[in-house]
Amino acid sequence: MARYIGPVCRQCRREGMKLFLKGERCHSEKCAIERRNFVPGQHGKDRKAKIVGYGLQLREKQKVRRIYGVLERQFRNTYEKAAQAKGITGENLMGALERRLDSVIYRMGFGTSRAQSRQIVRHGHIQVNGRKVNIPSFQVKIGDEIAVRETSKNNPTILAARDATAHAPAPNWIDVDREALKGRVQALPKRDELVQIQLNEQLIVELYSK
Ligand code: SF4
Repeated sequence: MARYIGPVCRQCRREGMKLFLKGERCHSEKCAIERRNFVPGQHGKDRKAKIVGYGLQLREKQKVRRIYGVLERQFRNTYEKAAQAKGITGENLMGALERRLDSVIYRMGFGTSRAQSRQIVRHGHIQVNGRKVNIPSFQVKIGDEIAVRETSKNNPTILAARDATAHAPAPNWIDVDREALKGRVQALPKRDELVQIQLNEQLIVELYSK
């Protein structure tokens, strides 16, 4: 599945907030939101358009899509599945995004960003229940054991990410053994435990159900 390969910080500037897409840089003074918090483009500094209605719904959808690094087609498919499943569509959608293997690796602290975690998965460093899985959108479920593969335990990127994220709390729904570079999914993620950014997924539901 394709991924966005354009300028990254531009996405945060468009949304006017930190989306934490770049790992450590996001917590430094080099962050573009700290330096140039205005929308990208030639007239970005001059324009302060008031966003209402459809614009609000669109921005919310783009924000979530960008945080999880998912392109439109795949995001829409995830939404359709969430809408068909039992329960609240918005919560189902956020849960499905959070249970992506790349997001789980990020949550476990073996990647400093979801983008880096995605690459770790794509490069075959991760196994689920003893079998290599290199699909970033793979959905984990309760009871799955997720681990860095034996041959990748000395991978400098993964070890550096583990050290860099040592202070970050592990999610309640995954039992993480950071030393052994593995963890087990204990429960499904609850909505209030997800992304640290204030999001209103109901706006996405309104956008897609028009
Ligand atoms: Fe966004 Fe991180 Fe870039 Fe800051 S450094 S603009 S939070 S991606």
